[in-house]
Amino acid sequence: MKKLLFLLLFCLLLAACRTTPATEPAYVVQVSLGGWNHPDYTADRIIARIDSVAALIPVRKVIIGWSTDKDIYRQVGEYLHGKDIRMLLWLPVFAETEEVCDNTPAVDLWGSIPAHYDLTAGEGFRFNCPSDPQNASRIVGVYDRFFADCGFDGVFLDRIRTQSFVGGVGGVLGCGCPVCAERFAAEGVDLEAVLEEWAHEGDRFLSVSGYTPATGFRFSNPVAAGFFRAKGHIVSGSVAAIADSFRSRGLEVGMDLYAPFMAPFVGQDYEILSAHADFIKPMLYRMTFAPAGMGFEYDLLRKAVPGAEGYPDFTMDLAFLESQLEAMEPYTCAKFPGIEINYREDIAPTSPAYVTESLDAVMGHGFEGLVLSWNILEAPVSHIACLGKAESND
Ligand SMILES: [Zn+2]
Repeated sequence: MKKLLFLLLFCLLLAACRTTPATEPAYVVQVSLGGWNHPDYTADRIIARIDSVAALIPVRKVIIGWSTDKDIYRQVGEYLHGKDIRMLLWLPVFAETEEVCDNTPAVDLWGSIPAHYDLTAGEGFRFNCPSDPQNASRIVGVYDRFFADCGFDGVFLDRIRTQSFVGGVGGVLGCGCPVCAERFAAEGVDLEAVLEEWAHEGDRFLSVSGYTPATGFRFSNPVAAGFFRAKGHIVSGSVAAIADSFRSRGLEVGMDLYAPFMAPFVGQDYEILSAHADFIKPMLYRMTFAPAGMGFEYDLLRKAVPGAEGYPDFTMDLAFLESQLEAMEPYTCAKFPGIEINYREDIAPTSPAYVTESLDAVMGHGFEGLVLSWNILEAPVSHIACLGKAESND
């Protein structure tokens, strides 16, 4: 009888546990201050905004950058730490660093600097060579010089890639500088042979013979397959070393990544990167018709190589989001997919329904939560409030 009672009690306890989700979503928010100079907001305004957001949803971390105005971080950091919220520096790595340090540019396989993209002023940028050890040490130096004494708990590494198809095929077929050529050779890839193959095959060089979320695109041409595998090792290997430099300073490291299906084109090898990150933020933007938007980047690919075969028609629907979440599952670091909550009629027509649909999908995969992208100071309150308890319990 006693045993039966214990069993009953055990079952009741189990049922009680089941009614509470295993994990409540945690949120990371981003504060875009503009460029290196003149922050767009005062510390008071940032604090007031985060205070109102934190009243709606549990904010775990704030990613803020990258003005060199130290006072702003010291004031915001003091507030955040009082609320047990971590503060991470939003730091661009392989682009947009010209104002604060010298860099050597990335070039395509023909030796040219890939074209810029000027959606709006400030959104076109040049990429630096991922292999030049000076580029890597200088960006760590930028942290040490401008940010080490500002109270940061971590860094959020952005632009950890090459140019995408935003810069045409040349953006993706790089970096082809002598330093990178040596590193490709060490990976068994002769860049001259890649160029010859491209000259011979044209667009078909990038044809694919299949796609699954778990394995990505399968390149038909073994030279192309070898090139992108090596590129992932080279670019991501450099990022891993930079991440390790920051971690050795006691800093948490987050990473801004392209969605898994597009990541190989920009040199992002999830396996390497996730092993050197505390968390990754794949940009799973289905409603952004600008760089990093999943559909936008995929359209650019198909326009850049119209003769390439085998690329399926993807619809940026919930099923596609699920496929990208599935692709992230094997990696062991924390996963905070980036979902856009900012609204712009022409390039980001998001809605509360879109935001909550995305959240449910992410939590359905057992991930930690979301990075609300890309600037909490300008996001509509309705796109944040819909994530809060009062709404989701309806
Ligand atoms: Zn290079």
